[in-house]
Amino acid sequence: MGTKQVIERRGKPKRVYSRHEEDPRLLQMTNTMLKYRRGYITRVPKEESVVMAMSGGLDSSVTVDIVIPEWNVTIYPLFVRRSARATKYEEEAARYFVDFYDQRYPGKIKPLEVVETEVPPLQFKKYPEVDRLQRLGHPHRNSMLQALCVQYGQKLRATKAPDLSTVLTSTVEDDSFPHSSLLALRTMTLLTCEDTGDWNWQVISPLIDTEFKGRPIYKKDLIKHAVKNGIPLEKTRTCIEGGEPDGTCAECACRLRAFKKAGVKDPIIYK
Ligand SMILES: [Zn+2]
Repeated sequence: MGTKQVIERRGKPKRVYSRHEEDPRLLQMTNTMLKYRRGYITRVPKEESVVMAMSGGLDSSVTVDIVIPEWNVTIYPLFVRRSARATKYEEEAARYFVDFYDQRYPGKIKPLEVVETEVPPLQFKKYPEVDRLQRLGHPHRNSMLQALCVQYGQKLRATKAPDLSTVLTSTVEDDSFPHSSLLALRTMTLLTCEDTGDWNWQVISPLIDTEFKGRPIYKKDLIKHAVKNGIPLEKTRTCIEGGEPDGTCAECACRLRAFKKAGVKDPIIYK
């Protein structure tokens, strides 16, 4: 019996367009694999050094203010410089928040590491589905960014942080793309452990990992946290277009919906 028949027999579609459509048993299976191999699924990297992907966006900019107080981690932030319309604004925002948190938590966030690379390579950004980017994003977009974080972490092990084994992403519960699921993070963790032969690695989102208390966290929760803790949300960069934020692209729309849910006015002045 071929794979196709097996899938049809179990009534499972071969394609899912939102992570909420995925069979939850798959997450249980990957959890079982990790637990079997190393005794735990994911762990709190308490007082450890971690690599964190920082994009200048709202999610990663606020997440820093959750993980440093809660876990007392030392963050090595990584920014991936790609040629996109908003890149220079995103980088400016990432740099702003590294300075901001360095003042708030001295020594707990290291200087921003920047790598310049295309994810995915520009000549591959053409898709048969017209709405590919709205529904699914670029294939391997997140996993490539996470792999760069692992590679940075491996370098840090050789220099400043020999025990580093955690990569933090800031995936929130609202993200619906398949690549934003807890299952995607588990499979990335499995891949990294298997690839490196080192089962200490974990690629986790402190916001959606239900192994951690009080999760999942939504974008509206991050906004409320920021307001309560004096984090200047007008300095975050969400808009994917160039110039002043438009307030109309898909990313801006998602941000504005979250502000509405939080009952807070977005401090950004849109053009
Ligand atoms: Zn926009």
